[in-house]
Order: sequence, then structure tokens, then C-alpha cells
Amino acid sequence: MTTNANLQERKVAAIARGQGNMAPVYVERAVNAEVWDVEGKRHIDFGAGIAVCNTGHSHPKVVAAVKEQVERFSHTCVMVSPYESAVTLAEKLNEAAPGNTPKKSIFITTGAEAVENCVKIARAYTGRSGIIAFNGGFHGRTNMTMGLTGKVAPYKAGFGPFPNEIYHVAFPNEYHGVTIEQSLEELKMRFTCDIEPSRVAAIIIEPVQGEGGFYQAPAEFLQALRTLCDEHGILLILDEIQSGFGRTGKMFAHEHAGVEADLMTAAKGIAGGFPLAAVVGKADIMDAPLPGGLGGTYGGSPVGCAAGLAVFDVIEEEKLVDRAVAVGERFMTHLKDIQAEYPQLVGNVRNTGAMIAMEFVNDGEASKPNPELTKALTAKAAEKGLILLSCGIRGNVIRFLPALTIEMEIIDEGMTVFKECLKEL
Ligand code: PLP
Repeated sequence: MTTNANLQERKVAAIARGQGNMAPVYVERAVNAEVWDVEGKRHIDFGAGIAVCNTGHSHPKVVAAVKEQVERFSHTCVMVSPYESAVTLAEKLNEAAPGNTPKKSIFITTGAEAVENCVKIARAYTGRSGIIAFNGGFHGRTNMTMGLTGKVAPYKAGFGPFPNEIYHVAFPNEYHGVTIEQSLEELKMRFTCDIEPSRVAAIIIEPVQGEGGFYQAPAEFLQALRTLCDEHGILLILDEIQSGFGRTGKMFAHEHAGVEADLMTAAKGIAGGFPLAAVVGKADIMDAPLPGGLGGTYGGSPVGCAAGLAVFDVIEEEKLVDRAVAVGERFMTHLKDIQAEYPQLVGNVRNTGAMIAMEFVNDGEASKPNPELTKALTAKAAEKGLILLSCGIRGNVIRFLPALTIEMEIIDEGMTVFKECLKEL
């Protein structure tokens, strides 16, 4: 019989450790927020493939759209012989992106490529090279996006040198004692000491830091960045790869701050599990690169576009943006109970819609992270049939990113397992 253990053994022998996996749960099939492994065991999935399956695993509408598409044709390349679905999806994205300035989009395949393309477009438009990014930020694993990423291990370890002209600034984080004023002050210091604002092409920021620990950028801070960018002709790039597509209780998380991006990335939740990513931005900025300068062989594949259109429909029909708020609230009720029961172990609990986090500490102190407990908890949960993800620059955050379609009873059932795990550790 195929078991999780023997597949893990084969995996370790066959796939380089750099592409490591969290739980050794080998999936046979999955429906909405439930996964069955190769041993027939059921797991509750609180990760949704890292915020990809916002519409749940194998949503029937997404599956039907993909099947219909592959039966007609699966690939021609949007840069060779395009198709209507790519145009319609771009129109929908342009419409959905916050702000009133006319937008255009391009399609690529991964989140990292979306960020890379934002940098290319920003440089082509401004004729400048400098990019400002934030400590704790995560933007991908390609060379440029590693450079932009502010979280060092394991993403950057051993991979330097990184591209130059990238400058990092502290991300405002009230819980860890970094104020908005301090971040802005540091940014201005960068402008004085390291790079004049007239040489900065863009500032890139996640409206809610994902891999860095689920910290929402304060609205006031994003607004201040918008003003600074406008003053100096700098473009504001908002990386919505993890926070987009209804995840935070808005279609895109920067709507919470009421700002408009010059360029925005989208990936993960865009196509319910099919590799698709996009850059959406102000039309004149998007048109700066020459024809042929953007995109790639698989960017905006017909299958990805068919899935993306179905995802847009499901989000609307099932009111998933509102549902993210209800899902977040249900989780937070449980998280607050746990926090009250374990004040020494549980630090801050927080959410932006269905981006939900619990921080583990020692002695109840934010400054004493407890990554050991976090790691033990995710391992224990995997044994008990609960898929959990961790994150955070200190490795001490459990992040809950369930399908937005998850049933409330499944949330309760999963949280019961979570509480049992904590009790047993
Ligand atoms: N940017 C953010 C905010 C992300 O969360 C991620 C992935 O987790 C990326 C970029 C990179 O996306 P991908 O892994 O699809 O390249």
C-alpha cells in the first residue's frame, strides 16, 4: 500500500530539499476545505494551498470551466494567437482593481513573475532604477524578488549577490513596537542618505504582510506612502498576491486604506488552483514597455483564464468577499478563547478578514517568540488530520487561510482539533 511515510521517503530521495514540504500528507483528493490523503485519512485544510483555493478545492464551476476549455484547446500562447477569455479576464481585473484611473493588465504564471514585471514596468515608465521594499516583506524566489524580500532565512540564504538599487525600510508594526512615524522617518533617511527620491522608481509593499507574519499595513501608512509617491513621481506597487481576491473582506486588501495603486500584483486566489498571475495598473504606466517586453510562453494560458473567469463568478455568486469577514470572525472567537486559556503561550491574535494569525510566545511576552511550539503544533496537527501553515520572521505565527467557502461547522471541528493539539503539547 502507498503510505504517506513511504512517499515522503521517496520524495526526500527524488526532490531536492530546497523544495521542502510542511506536513507529510500526500493528497489523493480534495473537496472545498477537506483533503483525503493516500491512506484514506481525512484532513481539514486551514491553508487552502497557501491562499490559492479561495473558492475551495475543486469548486464544481471552476472544474467545469477548465474541462470545457481543455476539450476545445489547451494552449496557443496569448502572444501568438490570443483568445477571448484572456481579454474578458483582463477587462474584469481592470474593473475590479481599486481606483478610478483606467487600467490595463498583463498575465504571467507565478506571483514572483508578477512582481518582477511590476519592477520592469516601473523602471520603463520612470526611467529610474531604485526600489524601496520593507523588512519582513516577501515577494518571491526569483533573483529580483529575493532581493526585494526582507525576510532572510531560508529565502535568501546562500543565493546572493542580489540586484542592487534595492533599499529596505522598517514595516510599521504596532505589536512589535515599530510606529508609523518611525517607518516614515526611516524612509526619509533613505532618501537623504542612500538614494535621492528622484532616482526611485517604485515603493513596493504588501497591504497585509503574508509570509512575514500577517501584519496589516496601517491605512494611515499606505496613505502616507501614496502622498510621498505622488510628491516625488515614484510609483506605488501593492503586492496583493496573498491578500487578494476577497481574502481580507475586500476584493483587494488595499481597499481597506482607500488608496489606489499605480501597479498591483495578483496571483494565488485568481484562478482557484491553476497557475495564473497578473499585473494590473494604470493604463499609461502599463503601456510603457515595448510590445514583446512583457509576458511569457504560459502567461495567461487558456486554462488559467477559464479558471479565472469562473473564480470571478463564484466570488460574486457566493458573496465570498462578505463571507471572508464571517469566516474571520468565527476563527477569532476560537482564537480569543485559546488566548484567554493560554496567556503565557499565546501572544497577539489578529485578522484581516480571513487572513488570521496566532502568535506563540514564552512568558506571555511579544519579544520572546516561541517557534519551537509553533513547529510542534503544525506537526501534531498534521498527525491529527488538520493542515496548518506557519509564517513570520520569527517563525512563531500560525496563519489560518481557509477556503472562503469553508463551512462554519468545519471551522469549529478544525479548531477543536487545534485545541486538542495544544493541550497535548
Ligand atoms: N508576493 C507575495 C505577497 C506572496 O505571498 C508570494 C507567495 O507566497 C509571492 C509574492 C510569490 O508568489 P509565487 O510563489 O507564486 O511566485
